[in-house]
Amino acid sequence: MPELPEVETERRRLAARLDGRTLAAVAISDSRLTRPDDPAAIAATLAGARVEAVERRGKYIAVRLSNGRTLLVHLRMTGGFRYEPATHERAVLTLGDGARVAYRDVRRFGTWSLHESEEADEHLAVRLGPEPLERGFTPRFLAGRLAGRSAPVKAAILDQRTVAGLGNIYADESLWRARINPLREAGSLGTAEVSALRDGIRGALRAGIRYQGADLGDGAYAGGRMQERFRAYGREGEPCERCGTPIEKIRVAGRGTWYCPSCQPPPQAASSRSRRPSRSS
Ligand SMILES: [Zn+2]
Repeated sequence: MPELPEVETERRRLAARLDGRTLAAVAISDSRLTRPDDPAAIAATLAGARVEAVERRGKYIAVRLSNGRTLLVHLRMTGGFRYEPATHERAVLTLGDGARVAYRDVRRFGTWSLHESEEADEHLAVRLGPEPLERGFTPRFLAGRLAGRSAPVKAAILDQRTVAGLGNIYADESLWRARINPLREAGSLGTAEVSALRDGIRGALRAGIRYQGADLGDGAYAGGRMQERFRAYGREGEPCERCGTPIEKIRVAGRGTWYCPSCQPPPQAASSRSRRPSRSS
């Protein structure tokens, strides 16, 4: 399932093809992509518009158009853009010079929705917290989102209103970097731990972007190299790169979760080490 780095990689490739270009023709062959809206109506509104920018917010790609509309694309499980003919094409954009951009989606969970641009921004604002790689994602903001919550910290950071764009893979990678056990109560983290978590999230996402996302072998995000750089995710039984302890797998919030039992000490051990006297007032 694509997370911020995979979506950002798709966005960069798409922007290189679409920025400043006109959508001469648009064909949407799968009505599930635009439901409940009529795919023909969406295609007709897209056709003739010029692409002013291809942006990303969390896991959404926002295609800004000259007609005051914004197309929001959510790739969900296996969605992505292709520049050569591909299997499982659900939509095709033909540009003014005849170049072809296809949207491919094997599992068909991806969505396209067309909005007035201001409405698109509101749609995103109510669903998403700040961009984790931008200035608004401060330790203070993160501390505010975690305060008082008894949920495991991993569940808390999977909430898109806490960290836009984080999913199962990069949550585990972030917690490993921050040396925080995924089962810790979100509200129990001390100030230094919240800062470490903020830095861990940024580090994991930056690495993901640098290696063009993770290719998990299903063909959806082929070419990504991040899977070779995982420190925790999917590494059950392999030695922790910091301490050599075998990585363990548990379930947290219904998700497979990998961590180092030595570097990321369990909740009781961690809380006795960093108790916060201010919380009892
Ligand atoms: Zn370790």
